Amino acid sequence: MPSQGALRRLAELMRRVNSSTDTEVILEEIAHGVVDVLGYGVAAIARLEGDTLVMTNVAGPPEVVAQILNRRTPAEQILDEFRQADRWGILRFVPAGRMSEERLRAAWIPELESDDDDPDAWHPEHALYAPLYSASGELLGNMAVDLPADNRVPSIDDRELLEMFAVQAGVALSNARERERLTDRVRLDRMLTTVAGSGTQHGLAQALGTAVTAVAECLGTAQVWARTFPIDAQGRELGAATPRPFSPEVDVVELRDDLRSLDSLPVLLELGVDDGDSEHLPLSREQLQERMRAIHADRMVVCPLVSQDELVGYAVLGFARHSRAMTAGEADAVLEVGRLLGQIVRASRVLETEQRLVQELRELARYRSELIATISHELKTPLTAILGHAELIADRHPDLSSIDAIIRNAQRLGLLVSNLLHYSRIQGRRETVRRAVDLAELCEASVDLLSIRAKQANVSLAFTTRELGPIVVFGDPEELARVIDNMVDNAVKYTPEDGSVTVAMAVTEDQVSVEVTDTGIGISPADQAHVFSAFHRSTNPNALSIPGTGLGLPIAQRIAESHGGTLELTSELGVGSTFRFTLPLRTSRDPVD
Ligand code: ADP
Repeated sequence: MPSQGALRRLAELMRRVNSSTDTEVILEEIAHGVVDVLGYGVAAIARLEGDTLVMTNVAGPPEVVAQILNRRTPAEQILDEFRQADRWGILRFVPAGRMSEERLRAAWIPELESDDDDPDAWHPEHALYAPLYSASGELLGNMAVDLPADNRVPSIDDRELLEMFAVQAGVALSNARERERLTDRVRLDRMLTTVAGSGTQHGLAQALGTAVTAVAECLGTAQVWARTFPIDAQGRELGAATPRPFSPEVDVVELRDDLRSLDSLPVLLELGVDDGDSEHLPLSREQLQERMRAIHADRMVVCPLVSQDELVGYAVLGFARHSRAMTAGEADAVLEVGRLLGQIVRASRVLETEQRLVQELRELARYRSELIATISHELKTPLTAILGHAELIADRHPDLSSIDAIIRNAQRLGLLVSNLLHYSRIQGRRETVRRAVDLAELCEASVDLLSIRAKQANVSLAFTTRELGPIVVFGDPEELARVIDNMVDNAVKYTPEDGSVTVAMAVTEDQVSVEVTDTGIGISPADQAHVFSAFHRSTNPNALSIPGTGLGLPIAQRIAESHGGTLELTSELGVGSTFRFTLPLRTSRDPVD
């Protein structure tokens, strides 16, 4: 049985080990506890990293610490030794003479005179290991101890103490690792959330800046930079970096070609400052290593930014000397950053393209209006001259029948030109003249104006709501009259003989409408979708046979909108149509009289 005193000291040590949540602190406590409490001259702990045991914590004389700290041994070698060792509970004892020559050369052998006469004397080539297991039996590391107290092979009691300690230490270590793993997850999740959220920011440059800062804070990098390229010749080249600002001189443009030549993306590529040759980064390797030296970095990790299997940029993470390697979870998170940034780059390129197209369309529309305005203006003068001369000839030679046709067609052309001019003038106009206008008077005037034409066509035309009296709206009287005239004119024009056209007004609390209903040829649903587009003429042959420009309704609708109103249509082919022009009665912008 171990002595009461040793047990008490062990319990105290155990308490310290278990009270820490930091793996590094726990390992230090274990190594020093074994030396201080259990009396070994040296205790060296190697941590399992992948399939390598890395000596991370050594307690003992400084020269021994300097000699063996950071040593790396393939885990398989140690497991091999375990197999040849004597089992002391969970401890493994390899007596002198059993270890291979190769292992002996690699191992640290104390300079110790062994007492050959004492069978329990400690031999310098003896090795004693205390493997550190998690509660679930996973090997986390190994502790090698040497120079036991009194230079004797440890007694059963001492072995039990070491064993108890190793078991407790293993559990504390695995708990701490579990906690670290959880904190790591939270930390990495936060980084990914920040990077994903950066996509909603204004502009790609700002998103890249936020993303590199998040990566730097989360992974403790010495320098990070990210760079993006245009896709399909769209977009600018952008870069962001921290803590040193991004500059094209710091970037290594050859990386793009190196990454492009890879078979599969995305993958992370790691490069050490002294790696002689890297099969993956033949063009950029040396420059990257030069950049590493300049910032005292030891390693760089290159992460491609990929979207839909296309390389759209890259991020380079520089790690300072002696910084630990990235965990598998961190590497996955960095790859995810690459994917997220790739998507953000693509989305931003799509947006840029859309904005450019909208700009081009606006430009085109402006050019079209300008062209229409210029051409119609230029046509107006010669047309007026043609009409004037034709009328003169007609006066002098009333018997010339062709001259009537010239005058009729010149008049049609004149109408088209004036419609074109009006159309180009009201395009893009937002403000209108605002005066008090009696809409009922405009309706009446329109019916008067077109009554002769209606009579000639044998179509009855009536204004049916005279009893309502004046109805005042605010707007441009000429423009409002133009809308009503156009509706009544069309109704008469597209209504065959014996049909009827009625003009009626309706007033509600806040709006007034003018409805023009006819029993005419009607408009098919397909044509209804287009009647308000410039130059549209119905596909109905009955309508096409009647001269028109296809500009009346687009102009009328634009006028309605610029007055804060609407122009709507209900129609049935072969039955008739109703055009409804609605205006607000008063808006806050109307002058109050
Ligand atoms: P236009 O009458 O000079 O051709 P509009 O822009 O005023 O030009 O009308 C566009 C088209 O809408 C007309 O060509 C015609 O086919 C159709 N349309 C307009 N009003 C009516 C109506 N009341 N009945 C039948 N079709 C109509």
